[in-house]
Amino acid sequence: MKYNLPVEGMTCASCVARVEKSLNKIEGIENVTVNYASEKVSFEVDENVSLDIAKEAVEKYGYKLYTEKVRTEDSGTAIEDESDEQYNKLKSDLLFSVILTLPIFIISMLIDFEWFRNIWMFNSDSTNKILLILTTPIIFISGKRFYKIFWVNLKHFSFEMNSLVAIGTGAAYGYSVVATLFPNLLKINDKLPHVYFETAAVIIVLITLGKLLEVRAKKKTGGAIKKLLELKPKEATIIENGKEKLVQLELLAVGNIVVIKPGEKIPADGVVKSGASVVDESMLTGESIPTEKNIASKVIGGTINKTGSFNFEITALGDNSVLGQIIKLVEEAQGSKAPIQQLADRVSSVFVPIVILIAFATFIGWMFFAETNNINFALINFVAVLIIACPCALGLATPTAIMVGTGLGAQSGILIKNGESLEMAHKIDTIVLDKTGTITEGTPTVTDIIPIDITEEELISLAASIEKKSEHPIASAVVEYGNKLGVSFREPKSFQSHSGLGVTAMLGSDKVALGNQKLMEQFSINISDIQKNFDELSSEGKTVIFCALNNQLAGMLAIEDPIKSTSVEAIVKMKELGLNIFMLTGDNEKTANAIAKRVGIDNLFAEVMPEQKAEKVKELQKSGKRVAMVGDGINDSPALVTADLGIAIGTGTDIAIESSDITLITGNLNSVVSAINLSKKTIRTIKQNLFWAFIYNTIGIPFAALGFLNPMIGALAMSFSSVSVISNSLRLKRAKVK
Ligand code: ADP
Ligand code: MG
Repeated sequence: MKYNLPVEGMTCASCVARVEKSLNKIEGIENVTVNYASEKVSFEVDENVSLDIAKEAVEKYGYKLYTEKVRTEDSGTAIEDESDEQYNKLKSDLLFSVILTLPIFIISMLIDFEWFRNIWMFNSDSTNKILLILTTPIIFISGKRFYKIFWVNLKHFSFEMNSLVAIGTGAAYGYSVVATLFPNLLKINDKLPHVYFETAAVIIVLITLGKLLEVRAKKKTGGAIKKLLELKPKEATIIENGKEKLVQLELLAVGNIVVIKPGEKIPADGVVKSGASVVDESMLTGESIPTEKNIASKVIGGTINKTGSFNFEITALGDNSVLGQIIKLVEEAQGSKAPIQQLADRVSSVFVPIVILIAFATFIGWMFFAETNNINFALINFVAVLIIACPCALGLATPTAIMVGTGLGAQSGILIKNGESLEMAHKIDTIVLDKTGTITEGTPTVTDIIPIDITEEELISLAASIEKKSEHPIASAVVEYGNKLGVSFREPKSFQSHSGLGVTAMLGSDKVALGNQKLMEQFSINISDIQKNFDELSSEGKTVIFCALNNQLAGMLAIEDPIKSTSVEAIVKMKELGLNIFMLTGDNEKTANAIAKRVGIDNLFAEVMPEQKAEKVKELQKSGKRVAMVGDGINDSPALVTADLGIAIGTGTDIAIESSDITLITGNLNSVVSAINLSKKTIRTIKQNLFWAFIYNTIGIPFAALGFLNPMIGALAMSFSSVSVISNSLRLKRAKVK
């Protein structure tokens, strides 16, 4: 059983590692991945393991696992409510601490000036007490979220971002409390000790502000799912007992006839029963040109009808519908991790303990070895190191970009399975394109018929009768042609499909074989009589199949599969990206060559048996190439799985996601280019993010240790680093994918 559940209370990358570890330890729970940006954990559980155990394990570390919120149709709204709640709590905490911090800050700044001390009615001692009274609620109310997690972690002797904030502000506050209540303990040269209430207060305000901005921005990165959920209308008109009736979407059922008027949203997947129209499917396929719909056309739920009206019968709803599957996929992808993140995770798990050590070293250095050797300077630099080093932006760098990237893909009809696939796409240097259905339309038609010693009609009748049993696109072309001519169909016996070769069957007492020259060779049938026609038709890019009747050649059919209008352009773009392009087909060399030439492909694997397709991919991989295989998934699944990146091309509504890393909803090859570009942009964003997340810390720490950084500025920089990382990811939203 696979779950994807919300977790509350994670504040940084090290929390991610902790939640993962705590769940991974449980027997029967596997493949745990936490997504910090979506605040969800996904894992697989054995039947006999109760989710309560998982819940307990996570709670031990101070986080909360929502086991009752299993993904449902409207999980989008559930996520939203939750982050709204968190947002509002942060907002009220921030407001509260700002109101108290303002006077603290003003008094602390002005008290250093002679003129202010003259008009200020309290002495230093009383002023410190006022500051203490104002600061305490900030620490214990607004700052509670940091201290609580710090405390839970401390019990396990583990440290993370909250530890840094808690130790930093706690030290500043604790020292100031002692200095205020027992000044004699800390007096130097009979002067009242300095207090750092404003430091503690301002840090808490700024970090809470950073969190608030983070929650707000994180909500935006997940906007793609919300957009997808909004595609469906709330109601639909169905025909019941011959009358039109408006019903809620939840009440629709498979088999209902839905009435669609101009401008209406289509509520579910189905097949048109009457009427005609054009439908805008761009929101799902990324294809800007509306699609014509006639009787028997498939329609997809969530798309928008343009001008005509029609009735359709519902074939799929909810999770089974195309939209439902897309949402599920995007959700899973957004919750997944990119390999690049492992580095960030590893770094942040050792980072915090090291920072704490550096901070103590800083304190000791300033306290005992510097000329100033005063506790004030030591303390302030100690706090500065802890605050500037917070690795909170690090945990956001990858997941926010993955969320935006996968969401953006989904809106352009590019469904990316997970972060790993997204990352792999930019490393590809070789693309293998299947011919039928990928470069070509995959809807071939019969163009030439050359009968030998029988009539044209007899030949088609033989061929169509046995092809009726086959599912190959070639077979459909032959059957369709037979229907058009109105030939008689006979029922074949002992039908056999020879994958990559053709078909054989008995028609009455006649033995019929239909397929390519290899099949003819297998039956030792001489084709030299029509070799010339064969060569000619093949060099036009047509697929030729031979028909043998009782081991005698009875004729030949040429079948043409038109090249997709977008293929040539897409292949030019792939070349511009510097990719090696190969065409892979089971079709004969000559035909394949002609097609390859027409679309501008120089490298070719022809006459490849279906089971060898994966072998060819492996060969390329062995020669050091990183290979993407693009196919329609019908007989190329093994090749798709073998390739470093399997890209399945959809045929309008089918999602062949199982064996592929990326599924393109439309068959347009330009989407392959878009997917690679999307990957490049996302990875670039991640790298920039990691840079921004690290630069603040790494530059900041030595500055802070050497006493050049005020901890309040450190807090500001840290909040800024999180926000800049998320904004950078959001910038990706505006990237042109196409
Ligand atoms: P591809 O996916 O590249 O079209 P296939 O392995 O499906 O390759 O088919 C390879 C060749 O086998 C076809 O070009 C055709 O010559 C022959 N073939 C396969 N199935 C049939 C069939 N049902 N009828 C006739 N020929 C077929
Ligand atoms: Mg194929």
